[in-house]
Amino acid sequence: KLSLRSVQKAFGDNAVLRGIHMDVAVGEMICLIGASGSGKSTLLRCINQLESIDEGAVLLDGQDISEPGLDLGPVRRRIGIVFQSYNLFPHMSALENVLLAPRRVLRRDSTAEAEALFDRFGLAEHMRKYPDQLSGGQQQRVAVIRALAMQPEIMLFDEITAALDPELVGEVLNVLRQLRAEGMTMILATHEMGFARELADSVCFMDGGVIVEQGPPERIFTAPKVARTQAFLRSVL
Ligand code: ATP
Ligand code: MG
Repeated sequence: KLSLRSVQKAFGDNAVLRGIHMDVAVGEMICLIGASGSGKSTLLRCINQLESIDEGAVLLDGQDISEPGLDLGPVRRRIGIVFQSYNLFPHMSALENVLLAPRRVLRRDSTAEAEALFDRFGLAEHMRKYPDQLSGGQQQRVAVIRALAMQPEIMLFDEITAALDPELVGEVLNVLRQLRAEGMTMILATHEMGFARELADSVCFMDGGVIVEQGPPERIFTAPKVARTQAFLRSVL
């Protein structure tokens, strides 16, 4: 279980997160929505400690993982993240990209597990190919597999379909559907409102560095209570 308590983060005098509270249960899928600049990416980066926080706490099973000086290796293994830019190494095959981190960090050969992951997500026939031989959607699915190879307990996804051609978005969303069905705990920043509505257990609307409103998608999308949420949804739906 993941809990954020009064998380605050500023860049210089730009207060980007101004007291974020969030509880994420095992197997839950939470979608972060909100205008550009509302702090969604920063929040995800603060969760797996790619950014340090200024105030508050990030608790993973009760342990404060935002404490200064903590060994972040285990934290980053337990909480995986995938970005909009998939950043596969161009000189390595898809499989080699996936094997890199487990080899270095877990110090073991996990070829069999990696192959099983390619199989599970319908990419078995592509695993020996190089990134430039794969479509954007396939590369992004490899990036998801690469994160899963570390056997994380929680996965963070930051707009992972935003850079894709529209016809490739569906195959990446299918991977998320599958992960959700398998019970992965996930937090997604997304502009895909239809997807959030279909699959999220809970939707958080962020604005001005706080979660303005959180609730089940059905309620947030049909009966938002706060004027700012209403205005945002009017502008994107
Ligand atoms: P988008 O929908 O465009 O992805 P977002 O909700 O993810 O937006 P963030 O990327 O978290 O928003 O940015 C929130 C604010 O923090 C912005 O004002 C941004 O300029 C600022 N910011 C983010 N990262 C940094 C950084 N490394 N250094 C300085 N300012 C930053
Ligand atoms: Mg962002």
